[in-house]
Amino acid sequence: MILLYHHVKPEADDEISINPEKFTKHMLGLQDKTVVYLEDYNPLDDNQVVITFDDGYKSVLTYAAPVLKHFGYPFELFLVKDFYDKAQQGDEFFLNEGDLKSLMKIGGRLQYHTKSHPHLEEISDLKKLEEEIVAPEYMKNLDKNGFEWFAYPYCTYNDRVIEVVKKYYKGARTGKWLDGGTIYTLGSVFVRDDTLFEEASQDNEQAWRLCSKLFFLHKIKEFLRYLFFKLMFLFSFGEKKEYFRAKYKEAKKRIKIY
Ligand SMILES: [Zn+2]
Repeated sequence: MILLYHHVKPEADDEISINPEKFTKHMLGLQDKTVVYLEDYNPLDDNQVVITFDDGYKSVLTYAAPVLKHFGYPFELFLVKDFYDKAQQGDEFFLNEGDLKSLMKIGGRLQYHTKSHPHLEEISDLKKLEEEIVAPEYMKNLDKNGFEWFAYPYCTYNDRVIEVVKKYYKGARTGKWLDGGTIYTLGSVFVRDDTLFEEASQDNEQAWRLCSKLFFLHKIKEFLRYLFFKLMFLFSFGEKKEYFRAKYKEAKKRIKIY
């Protein structure tokens, strides 16, 4: 089973978000499963689970990462080039290079989800299709083990799209599992509620407690990080001072209230 997530955040008020408590409950529910990377995934093995996040939202670092780290689960991040570029220019909504490195340290692997998140089946020009599907070198360089798997935006594709994807990737993930699916149309479950985790749902209390504890510890850690860089900034000079100024400002942004 492949799980598909987008945002994990407290105000989970849209179709593509779930709140951190629910997410913690899901992760608790996976304890008797084997969580693997796509690389090691066997769709016929009912005990295997792959955790995937689409689009590269910052909320994954803020709210999913402390939970994933606690359980030590591997996970896949499907990134969009234009979103990543925005993050590199300071957009706080998406994951930037530093964020991706933090996520890779705890088991994240980077994969591709197109250049601009289009409906691929609507692109007739082959060159344009390749431009959307092939990941740029500067992104590939971020993860030597990554960019071997692809995810279709909106989970839509046609035979032409699959032919191009086959040239560059080991396999691809889509939405709902359809009979006759292949490694280039791997089905997934778009997780919005708890239906998949009925057994785990009895553990509401446990999930709530674990979630509160993890986020409390996470907040302390982030605060100490901020404090460290701020002190280094105050007691350094010249170029170093500029370096630590940037570091403490970035660290300050990472302290989120939960
Ligand atoms: Zn997407």
